[in-house]
Amino acid sequence: TETVERHEFGAEVGRLLDLVVHSLYSDREIFLRELVANAADAVDRRRFEALTQAVPALPENAAVRIIPDKAARTLTIADPGIGMTKDELAANLGTIARSGTRAFSQSLAEAKPGDRPSLIGQFGVGFYSAFMVADRVEVTSRRSGSEEAWAWASEGQGSYTLAPAERAEDGTDIVLHIKADAEEFLEPLRLQTIIRKWADHITIPITIARDGKDEPANDGTALWRKPKSEISEESYTELYRHLGHVFDKPWATLHWRAEGALDFTALLFVPGMKPFQVVEGERESRVRLHVRRMFITDQAELLPPWLRFVQGVVDTEDLPLNVSREMLQATPVLARIRRAVTSRVISELKTRAKDAEDYAKFWENFGTTLKEGLWEDTEHRKDLAPLLRFRSSAVEGWTSLADYVTRMKEGQEAIYVLTGDASEALAKSPQLEGFRARGVEVLLLSDQIDAFWPERLERFEEKPIRSITQGAVDLSKIARQDGTPDEAADLSRLLPLLKDALKDQASDVRATDRLVDSAVVLAAPADGLDLHQQRLLQRAGR
Ligand code: ADP
Ligand code: MG
Repeated sequence: TETVERHEFGAEVGRLLDLVVHSLYSDREIFLRELVANAADAVDRRRFEALTQAVPALPENAAVRIIPDKAARTLTIADPGIGMTKDELAANLGTIARSGTRAFSQSLAEAKPGDRPSLIGQFGVGFYSAFMVADRVEVTSRRSGSEEAWAWASEGQGSYTLAPAERAEDGTDIVLHIKADAEEFLEPLRLQTIIRKWADHITIPITIARDGKDEPANDGTALWRKPKSEISEESYTELYRHLGHVFDKPWATLHWRAEGALDFTALLFVPGMKPFQVVEGERESRVRLHVRRMFITDQAELLPPWLRFVQGVVDTEDLPLNVSREMLQATPVLARIRRAVTSRVISELKTRAKDAEDYAKFWENFGTTLKEGLWEDTEHRKDLAPLLRFRSSAVEGWTSLADYVTRMKEGQEAIYVLTGDASEALAKSPQLEGFRARGVEVLLLSDQIDAFWPERLERFEEKPIRSITQGAVDLSKIARQDGTPDEAADLSRLLPLLKDALKDQASDVRATDRLVDSAVVLAAPADGLDLHQQRLLQRAGR
């Protein structure tokens, strides 16, 4: 009819569809995981919007229904969730919002075959996996709170259609026209097995229609509510992969129950690898807040931004189920949970830091993020100092501030650091000459954030932290290792001449004991920014 609009997919979508359909063939059962996960997300969103906005409440017994129909050769996944408007159908199912095809295909090429399925979820392209098993997909959706329904349909070949439709209630039906070689996905038992394997931890009921009846397909117990002794490592890993859209193993799993003043259960994971795509500019923790098992929101910022790599769930008894957005912002309960959860993560890191090799794996992934806390978190700055690791002018590998202090020379008053762009280049800097000659170790700091936190931390074990490019470094009390005295060359005639010649470029010219072979070095005033900070600000156009 003439009300049907035809739209072309974005160029990216076309290529991506091809990639998903052809490279993941042997894992194609995961289409069901992706569609059920989307349905469960939609139900969660509706529940939350019903609390906070004018959206009708979820019906009682809300469930995600899976309906295979052998005669029609269709598989339908129906949910009573938030639904999509016409514009949302076009935006969510017609373009790729989150990431480029190139990044996806590159990761796909690099991943081990067994790891590929999870990339689909990680790159936010789960919906398109439907075309692995279907040669036509129809989505009928009614946005919660809206009167009209819309139908999206596509054969996955370059275009899709949008047309007005009917749907009695809010929510979404995804109808898959199953390919001839994918009929196994019309068998209730086969579907059941897939749900058990991939979606058992989803807490909304999932049913599979069989002989006209909806049979429960998932266990639906929240894993974190079970006693630790009953949870296998595989179950933990499965939940971790689901939450983080990743396929590795967690580096740390923290699962505990707090009772007494606060009553909550937390299950947190520190990932074993960096996420492929770091969402630019996003600094908020995405740890999920549940109240009595029910998912409420992943925007409660249960951990500070410098712990945003931690994934997981906090489930509390201390908030009412109908908690509103305003309440989430105002309640002191969350502030207390936040504090308790943060210090628990810090103490876990402290314990794990005792094993240097193991801790290095964590540090290389997330050390840079952790250091942001030194700059911005007054409350935890002192706790973070022992967790830091550095490259150094004196030792191979990583070293801590505590180890540095044990190697300090007699007469050495400060912990010295040199900041710059790359630790290899820093190791060759002439700024280090005088320190090397005296066997004085310098920490080499090459992350952007390193330009800023040392002045905030100020001290470690009473020792001031000093940038060696700042004026006031005095090495005269430390003996040179080869025994040669510092040449007290008479510069009294040269210095005024240099000062005069450089009067527009340098605020001062002084003799220094920082150099051995080089004749001159740039230094920053003692009370100003150090050299690297000045360069960063220049680059930022200030
Ligand atoms: P992701 O779930 O990672 O965002 P998908 O490709 O799986 O990526 O889904 C794309 C988007 O389509 C979702 O973010 C969501 O906005 C929308 N969507 C998909 N399925 C549903 C559904 N059943 N109900 C409501 N919205 C949905
Ligand atoms: Mg999805």
